[in-house]
Amino acid sequence: MTEPSALAPILPGATIGILGSGQLGRMLAIAAKQMGYTVAIFSPDSDSPAGQVADREVVSNYDDLDAVRAFAQGVDVVTFEFENVPSATTRAAAEFAPVRPDGQVLHITQQRLREKSFLQDHGFPVTPFRRITSLAELQAAAQDLGLPAVLKTASFGYDGKGQVKLRSAAELTNAFLALKGAEAIYEAFVDFEKEISVVAARTLSGDVRAFPVFENGHANHILDITFAPADLSETLACQACAIASGILESLDVVGLLTVEMFLTRDGRILVNELAPRTHNSGHLTLDACATSQFEQQLRAVCGLPLGSTELHRPAAMANLLGHLWEAGEPDWANALQDPWVKLHLYGKAEARVGRKMGHLNGIGSTTAEAVGRVSKARERLRL
Ligand code: AMP
Repeated sequence: MTEPSALAPILPGATIGILGSGQLGRMLAIAAKQMGYTVAIFSPDSDSPAGQVADREVVSNYDDLDAVRAFAQGVDVVTFEFENVPSATTRAAAEFAPVRPDGQVLHITQQRLREKSFLQDHGFPVTPFRRITSLAELQAAAQDLGLPAVLKTASFGYDGKGQVKLRSAAELTNAFLALKGAEAIYEAFVDFEKEISVVAARTLSGDVRAFPVFENGHANHILDITFAPADLSETLACQACAIASGILESLDVVGLLTVEMFLTRDGRILVNELAPRTHNSGHLTLDACATSQFEQQLRAVCGLPLGSTELHRPAAMANLLGHLWEAGEPDWANALQDPWVKLHLYGKAEARVGRKMGHLNGIGSTTAEAVGRVSKARERLRL
């Protein structure tokens, strides 16, 4: 490891330390290798999607602080592809290398109550919510905010895990018992027109750059298809990007952050969730933008100028989940008959239902054409 001053850029040849080893880490590692960096991965898993392409893979628990310190001593910057690491881990890493974004950003965004309270306190539009630690609080929240609603565990939820839709007062007791004592958040149900996301990066000197707004379609609570640009008025698209930029500034993010938002039927944008990292909805940037979200994260955490986020052409991404493997290996050659479709696979050995195994990116002269391309290519995998 070299010894840069806090503001000196971390240049190719240096080592990027990544906490987490899934597909986001894999694509970040590939972008880093492309730019001439060395990559070290730290996670509890071996032979991981990121570890397969990294120079070094450290397999250890996040709460093994000696292992974290040893890892940080061997890298020039620590960044993330997974945000649910303990605060003690980021503090231990920060003794030896800059941690970007800062551990405080992770602390806020890894717990829904902290995250929503931060957003509300800083004037960002969020779904009305209440903290739930007892049945009485749940009943009071249902009175105040009404039903239907969504009850979510405050920590460790993703892809719809740890959350339940409440339709009537009769469901409250069972929903509370199912929490098994975990702290939760009660959110008014948003009758949204669409879900959108903005991925944005911010440098040490405060430059912020957002990608065009992505529009997201989910199936069974898991992202299914994303396309860009989102089908939004110019005014709403600017509003979404301004909200995202404001959040990066308020959180003092150095790195990249994703803001998931709802567009309500009456034309309001509400922030649903933050992720202090790249995001599944940003995968189309790999083939459709001047700079990918992964390269942008690297530029931001290394103190380099940000790249252009311009979208070359309308684009779409379709996720490939484990069920596509149920009848054997998908027919890759058939999917790739369309020359405008690109395949990205994550190197996961076992295909479980609901597991993200890869994605297809496609471009077109319109978003409808791009969505048609990736959808049809995905269908051809199983024909
Ligand atoms: P989350 O884990 O918060 O991103 O939620 C997963 C998905 O559940 C979102 O992408 C929405 O489709 C849906 N969802 C979450 N919160 C709400 C809400 N308050 N109202 C309506 N739908 C929601």
